[in-house]
Amino acid sequence: KAAKAKELRGKPGMLKDGTRIPLLANVGKPEDADPALEHGAEGVGLFRTEFLFLGNEEPPSIEEQTAAYAKLLARFPGRKVVIRMLDAGADKPLPFLTPEDEPNPALGLRGLRTLREHMPVMDGQLKALAAADAQTEADLWVMVPMVADEHEAAYFVELGKSYGLKKVGVMAEVPSIALVADKVAQVADFVSIGTNDLTQYTMAADRTLGSVAAYQTAWHPAVLRAIKMIADAGNAHGMPVGVCGEAAADPDLAVVLAGLGVNSLSMTPVALDDVRASLAEVTLEEARARAAAALNGDFYHPAE
Ligand code: PEP
Ligand code: MG
Repeated sequence: KAAKAKELRGKPGMLKDGTRIPLLANVGKPEDADPALEHGAEGVGLFRTEFLFLGNEEPPSIEEQTAAYAKLLARFPGRKVVIRMLDAGADKPLPFLTPEDEPNPALGLRGLRTLREHMPVMDGQLKALAAADAQTEADLWVMVPMVADEHEAAYFVELGKSYGLKKVGVMAEVPSIALVADKVAQVADFVSIGTNDLTQYTMAADRTLGSVAAYQTAWHPAVLRAIKMIADAGNAHGMPVGVCGEAAADPDLAVVLAGLGVNSLSMTPVALDDVRASLAEVTLEEARARAAAALNGDFYHPAE
């Protein structure tokens, strides 16, 4: 089985009937391009930019950021690379940006909310992304995390475009955005579902807390129904919908996500082989049947 998975490595992600599901890599620093390419990633679906800011007393300079983004983009000429704006706050606190006195940090300032409070940081990152884009040949997509509704989505898309960015989208990781997904699909170029946070917020269970870890599963039909709302809205409006949370790295769940209408999957590079092999075993019709069963709760087993 492992040998078969490796054999498929040079091939693009697709179902048995040829339905394309591009398989992308999640990366945390430019050097991660190596494992991503080695495992046959077709591009990058999530570049977490927090590494540039972590452990520093102040935000990195525009030049420093530009160099880091360009370094990654240069490894993927002609290919899709989704770079995520800084996700400071909650499980990713940054000393100079995150307030220390929030009683519930996951419900406080994080992602877009933090950036709007620190416009010079937002401005610097957008300038660096536009500069790196101009220097390289990759197909750059830029998204922002922790977006609650279509108003915030429209705000960020407009802002990103004012810097000359071509594809600007949002992460879907707050349940509210799933509920208004039809509105979001009218303003965003794309949506990427962050199933780690979407699960945390849908189930109201802190993703960092061991005592409630049993709730942190995207197999829960409530989470899958939220994903379906987003995929349906995207497909109705011709807006690409990807998944970049851990759910995409589960070979069985990946089939369900494809059946729900998700267009691309992004995951840690080591998961690519197994997910590629798993998708190749089912037709779209079979994946849809699997998704219908999952939405019904057939594969979800509550903890005792
Ligand atoms: C997610 O929430 O699923 C996600 C991909 O982002 P992060 O894990 O970095 O919050
Ligand atoms: Mg997240």
